Amino acid sequence: MRLSRFFLPVLKETPSDAQIVSHQLMLRAGMIRQEAAGIYAWLPLGLRVLRKIETIVREEQNRAGAIELLMPTLQPADLWRESGRYDDYGKEMLRIVDRHERDLLYGPTNEEMITEIFRGYCRSYKDLPKILYHIQWKFRDEIRPRFGVMRGREFLMKDAYSFDLDLESATKAYNKMFVAYLNTFARMGLKSVPMRADTGPIGGKLSHEFIILAETGESEVFCDARLVDMPAPGEVDFDGDLQPLVDQRTALYAATEEMHDAARFEADVPEERRVSARGIEVGHIFNFGTKYSDPMKALVTGPDGKDTAVHMGSYGVGVSRLLGAIIEASHDENGVIWPEAVAPFGAGVINMRAGDEACDAASTDVYAKLDAAGLEPLLDDTNERAGAKFATMDLIGVPYQVVIGPRGLKEGKVEVKIRASGERHELSLEDAVNRLV
Ligand code: ATP
Ligand code: MG
Ligand code: MG
Ligand code: MG
Repeated sequence: MRLSRFFLPVLKETPSDAQIVSHQLMLRAGMIRQEAAGIYAWLPLGLRVLRKIETIVREEQNRAGAIELLMPTLQPADLWRESGRYDDYGKEMLRIVDRHERDLLYGPTNEEMITEIFRGYCRSYKDLPKILYHIQWKFRDEIRPRFGVMRGREFLMKDAYSFDLDLESATKAYNKMFVAYLNTFARMGLKSVPMRADTGPIGGKLSHEFIILAETGESEVFCDARLVDMPAPGEVDFDGDLQPLVDQRTALYAATEEMHDAARFEADVPEERRVSARGIEVGHIFNFGTKYSDPMKALVTGPDGKDTAVHMGSYGVGVSRLLGAIIEASHDENGVIWPEAVAPFGAGVINMRAGDEACDAASTDVYAKLDAAGLEPLLDDTNERAGAKFATMDLIGVPYQVVIGPRGLKEGKVEVKIRASGERHELSLEDAVNRLV
């Protein structure tokens, strides 16, 4: 991509209505634009990152054996009347009436609809187990939308749903998602901590929120420091026994405010390892048994010939919220520092003197080589002054910058800057390319 042809409306001033750094940087870097409270247009730069995050989430879901489909954003209210949630959900649900006076709603989540789909086709234990997921926009009329995409009203969520014959099998599905989530967030350069979450009236132990520690997080959290530094499982056999991997983590204390037990925290965790901090909920997994399959009659015939309600779980990831979470975890005073896996462009090429024959030729050459290597480079071929060019590249957080100017070129040299560390290297054109590809 050439910057002169791209659409990158960067702002010089920090918008006064943005309270946290990720929101400020997303506005300044021209990633999003607010269209109404908690409702954003994704500008080209923001969209590129959103798609990268979405792809990582999708790859890890697929790896864990989940199957992708796509459900609509609008849902008939009658489905929610069947489960009994239509009245319970309250004002967070956006209710819509169509021209035939039929009640619809913009889905805040999809348990009812997926249960309806499942019961339409699956009748036997032989159809089990199944994990189905989609990545779709949700709407929740949050009372206080804030912090940009962190708490939007319209937001992108990955939600998966598992179907099993019994709790034992449902636990295996839960473990798959548990491990997939750890790997998903680690690939984005995040340290996620699974924390015991409230299971409400359903009870049981199978609910965890995945939390990213950050000062600006909305939840107060408590955990054992060993959990924060534990590496993600990485490659595992999803058909094998994942229980030890899960147990290794759930054995260590970790709870959000609602589940926190101060006495147990102090008894279980020595003082030097007690982390009490703030965190961002980026994922939530939940086994809820037959909560929806019972009232909605999603029954399967077991090997014994008897019909039973299918055991279910749901597993959410805040795909759009993750942009904010990653920026909160990775930025400096000059802008965003994208982890390579989610960066909108893999490298920036800065032509310091657009119009100068040697600079133009070298820049296009480096650009073409990085492009051919699949790095998705951004070439700054504009006539801006040097300071502004550096500032923009730093702001949008491209991991590597290749700076090409007339003085260096005379000696056959360009400069490679590593955004995260600020390190600079004077290299030949060839070495610069080789270093990045
Ligand atoms: P929160 O406690 O932040 O309100 P939640 O517990 O209501 O979130 P879930 O129903 O668990 O959310 O939804 C799954 C995931 O969707 C959450 O873990 C979060 O990452 C994301 N999410 C929820 N609400 C929003 C929102 N308003 N804006 C952006 N992402 C959201
Ligand atoms: Mg909520
Ligand atoms: Mg929550
Ligand atoms: Mg939640």
